[in-house]
Amino acid sequence: MEEAIPRIQQAHRWEMQILRWCMSDAALRTQILRFIDCLPALESPREVVQHLKEYFPLRSGVLPLPLRLGLAATSPRLITAGAVASATRHTVSTMARLFLAGADLKEAFGRIGQLEGQGFQVSVDLLGEATTSQAEAQRYTQRYLEIIREWRSHLSSTPHLSLKLSSLAFPFEPVDPEGAWRQIRPRFSRILQAAFEQGGFVNVDMEQVALRDLTLTLTQRTLDEQFPGESRVGVVIQAYLKDSEEVTRGLIRWVISRKAPVTVRLVRGAYWDSEVIRSRQLGWPCPVYTEKAETDASFDRLTDLLFEHHDHLRIAVATHNLRSIAHAIAKAQELRAPQSHWEAQLLYGMGEAIQWAIHRHRIPVRIYTPVGELIPGMAYLVRRILENSSHNSFLAANLLEHERAAH
Ligand SMILES: Cc1cc2nc3c(=O)[nH]c(=O)nc-3n(C[C@H](O)[C@H](O)[C@H](O)COP(=O)(O)OP(=O)(O)OC[C@H]3O[C@@H](n4cnc5c(N)ncnc54)[C@H](O)[C@@H]3O)c2cc1C
Repeated sequence: MEEAIPRIQQAHRWEMQILRWCMSDAALRTQILRFIDCLPALESPREVVQHLKEYFPLRSGVLPLPLRLGLAATSPRLITAGAVASATRHTVSTMARLFLAGADLKEAFGRIGQLEGQGFQVSVDLLGEATTSQAEAQRYTQRYLEIIREWRSHLSSTPHLSLKLSSLAFPFEPVDPEGAWRQIRPRFSRILQAAFEQGGFVNVDMEQVALRDLTLTLTQRTLDEQFPGESRVGVVIQAYLKDSEEVTRGLIRWVISRKAPVTVRLVRGAYWDSEVIRSRQLGWPCPVYTEKAETDASFDRLTDLLFEHHDHLRIAVATHNLRSIAHAIAKAQELRAPQSHWEAQLLYGMGEAIQWAIHRHRIPVRIYTPVGELIPGMAYLVRRILENSSHNSFLAANLLEHERAAH
């Protein structure tokens, strides 16, 4: 079996350079992420060049010299604007490709087939968030149904999907749970039914804390009313939330009462920056821990709590942090949790050396695999860059360590 060189380290020099800038300079990181975020909306080369110059003023010296010289030689009216714009788009899409398995299903199924051939399992996430109309929510439902229909003709496995309930309804607001329910009920049930008919599995992802209770309530209600004995469903607990233990205990009580396990995917949480900023803006108590060590300790406590109930539920330990994975392995051994009761999960394109290391321990590894176009995928890309370049990130620390060792 050929072990892959980590994709993040295979990245083109420029893409690695961008990640390095993000890691070394917080102000530059903000500007790069803002620019990436608005890039899909820029239609002409002239607009791209204009925005590049506005986001990275040449005189400010923010950008490294070679890039400043290149931009200085370009005017929005010159023919070179086209070349600069296309090089910029190319660099950003190459970065996005590090974290996305394909822009369309055909490309994605090819990549998933390779991963499965190497002994990994996958969960497919259709990119896009913040659905802004009912028609869009309907289209999302159709696209998930299409993935389920197509899966078996491309792959030998059964469909495994990760989806966000907010993509299936508009509006999806905690202030109107019944309104959200009226839309979620038919769409979510159709997806679940179609997946189960193919022997498949559906995991409900977790988003901002504002949507947490609505997401859990609607998932539980769907299962209680329509699929009472069904186990092929997963939910997510975010360890960075200060009340995550209480929520996990409530979830465990519900799972025990329904007498059929569900999978609980334990993550640290992907919306740390926005949760902190939003609570500051609104003057509300911050819902997340603000010391990384507190989130790490919470992740360990929740790992212990979930493994103590491994008879009633299935556990997905979703992290790239080797220490957390080692803790889970030790807990599983201590409590004699059978391997069929838990698995490790990692994000596509991140921590591939870690994927292989866990795989070698004969622990099932599932790769969360995003599929979709660059434009709806931009928010996802920004979160991945934030994670890869934050100094609190296990992977970023590793990458820097790797670079220091190489020099
Ligand atoms: C398979 C898979 C599925 C996922 N699904 C979801 C999902 O549905 N919803 C979701 O929200 N996330 C999800 N994530 C992302 C996850 O929440 C993390 O953002 C990501 O995995 C990085 O955390 P880590 O444990 O891998 O590594 P680490 O690098 O050890 O931890 C980084 C994390 O620590 C936390 N953190 C960073 N700085 C601080 C600080 N100053 N104080 C306190 N905490 C801090 C943040 O949560 C940050 O993401 C998923 C991850 C995986 C692997």
